Amino acid sequence: MWNYSFELPLVLILGIILAFFFSRPRLGLRRSRVFLNLIIIETLTILTDLLASSVDNNYADYAIETVKVVNALYFVAFFTRAYILYLLAATVMKDTLEKDSALRILIRLPMHIGVILVLVSMFFGSWEFTNVIYYADGYGYHSGKLYNLVYVAGFYYIMLSFISLFLYRRRLGRRREKISMFFYNLIILTALIMRLAMPSFLVMDTFVFMAILVVFLAFENPEYYLELKGVTFNSLAFNEHLEENISNLKELPLSVVIYNYHEMREVYGYMQMQAGLIIIGRYLKQLFIGAKVFYFRNGRFIVLTDKGTDLSEKVQEITERFKRPLRSAETELYLSVGIALFDMAKTEYSAETITSTMMNAMDRVGKTGNITTFTEEFLSQTEKEKYVKKCIENALENRSLELYLQPIVDSKTGKTVGAEALSRIKDLDGKIIPPGIFIPIAENSGRINELGELVFEKACEFISETDTHSMDIEWINVNLSPAQFVRTDLAERYSAIIDKYELSPDKVHLEITEGCMIDDAFLQKQMNSMTESGFKFVLDDYGTGYSNLSRLKKCPFINIKLDMSIVWDYCKEPEEILPNMIQAFKHMGFKITAEGVENLEMADIMKSIGCDLLQGYYYSKPIPQDEFVEKYSKT
Ligand code: C2E
Ligand code: CA
Ligand code: CA
Repeated sequence: MWNYSFELPLVLILGIILAFFFSRPRLGLRRSRVFLNLIIIETLTILTDLLASSVDNNYADYAIETVKVVNALYFVAFFTRAYILYLLAATVMKDTLEKDSALRILIRLPMHIGVILVLVSMFFGSWEFTNVIYYADGYGYHSGKLYNLVYVAGFYYIMLSFISLFLYRRRLGRRREKISMFFYNLIILTALIMRLAMPSFLVMDTFVFMAILVVFLAFENPEYYLELKGVTFNSLAFNEHLEENISNLKELPLSVVIYNYHEMREVYGYMQMQAGLIIIGRYLKQLFIGAKVFYFRNGRFIVLTDKGTDLSEKVQEITERFKRPLRSAETELYLSVGIALFDMAKTEYSAETITSTMMNAMDRVGKTGNITTFTEEFLSQTEKEKYVKKCIENALENRSLELYLQPIVDSKTGKTVGAEALSRIKDLDGKIIPPGIFIPIAENSGRINELGELVFEKACEFISETDTHSMDIEWINVNLSPAQFVRTDLAERYSAIIDKYELSPDKVHLEITEGCMIDDAFLQKQMNSMTESGFKFVLDDYGTGYSNLSRLKKCPFINIKLDMSIVWDYCKEPEEILPNMIQAFKHMGFKITAEGVENLEMADIMKSIGCDLLQGYYYSKPIPQDEFVEKYSKT
């Protein structure tokens, strides 16, 4: 009667998935728990299906009670599976329908009715009135009057899954995930239709198995959430865990970050560093037994440990541990770490805010190597950053970024010969946000290219619309962030803007800092190609990084700007090095600008040691461009 020859292999393959699932560390997300339930219920459905079909095929060999019970078991598994198939889709979609208790009852109703009717059929199936789903008699198993309720329940749940997919599709980040969930639903729908079309082949289990495989491959493969050869979880796992538990986080976070990770990786090389990271991951798991350890690239670990743990003691132990080398068969590394502790009692913030706060905190301790406790205040700073990001986006969209200009004066004549363009944006209340705040945020959020280009364009627009010639303004300096400088199409893009305003490129000087000078060969290549297009470069903030003379000799700067800190130090306490250095630079053909000149005395000192150009509050603060025109026009 029934052909179940290909049911058995399915159980075996499900067994493999299950074994693999349990062999890797898991986070215990709600979704994984439902997935596990589905595998179990699917296995039970297949087994009871096999059992029932074989008993039904050979009913004469069995007692009638046996026929009744094995079929009841199968139908109970069937109704439960229909619901769990929906539940898995709903949890993947982060569906919240079941949160509403009335809806929950409605959603589960078909499963409950189904199970009750199965029990009624088992106990009272021999009566004409109550042989609802099935009945068994001397001629074996028979479908009941309302047998088709199994399809009603099946279609009801698959319809709910599709509704959930439609309502919550935006909660799935990637396209691949949306497609996977669509196919998951489609396969289950096909399963039901196939069961209707060819009931004797028992094909439904094969299709449900395919649907399970789709979810496994798209979401549940434990490898997706692991890092460092499975020793720790990864940042994706952290996000999912935090998102699911944000309202009731039972754990205390602590993070351990390798001090100066990038330099250390240079020193030890990738392979050795990787081995070291695995040793650290293992060590943390040993130290915090039962805790979840996550690895976020670039040497950053987060441990989520029990709220009762004495962290100060653990911090002490970690500090002690890193006084000794990390050793394994192939490595011996000497690393030190920074540790971040988080004292954030209230968690009314979103998981996203908390994660980015932790990232900031980790970056900070990675740079200092200190043990630092981060409080609520630091979290609200992250919120502010989010706000500034929004203001940057606003300014870019409306091109409402403003150019302020600060004059640059010829030290010999005292005349203004140029200016530096400094950008300002406004917050939503119209208050100015200083560049010290928004530039680093623009750099970290990938908006600096657009922003820098807008500043450059506004400076070009200013020059073309203003009679700079009669103002004796020869050029305007514009700042270029390292992220902009490394663009290989920079010359092309900036030349296009210069052409649009019909300017000569030497009207706008580009200020770059030593942050741009990571790679000597690239620096030279980029500067040369820009210089060929007619651009001129100024080295900004000299004295805050570590340029050496031989490097500078190779780069076609026209001017070196001494950073304010150097200027101020010298004015407070003159020494011999700075004047000598300035002389050396001048021999090499560079002009020198002193920044941060705040009074006449400083101006005189800087002039006396050879600075050609002076810039600072003594002459003027940066002022809006209109004001600048008014102030420096000679009419
Ligand atoms: P920077 O390029 O070193 O610009 C000079 C900064 O020093 C300006 O700060 C200026 O107002 C300030 N300053 C000038 N003279 C004096 C003085 O006599 N005393 C004191 N105490 N300060 C003085 P501002 O405008 O706040 O800009 C800060 C930094 O933001 C700039 O430093 C620059 O690195 C960055 N920045 C500003 N606009 C842009 C931009 O459009 N693009 C990029 N990439 N960075 C920009
Ligand atoms: Ca500058
Ligand atoms: Ca500067």
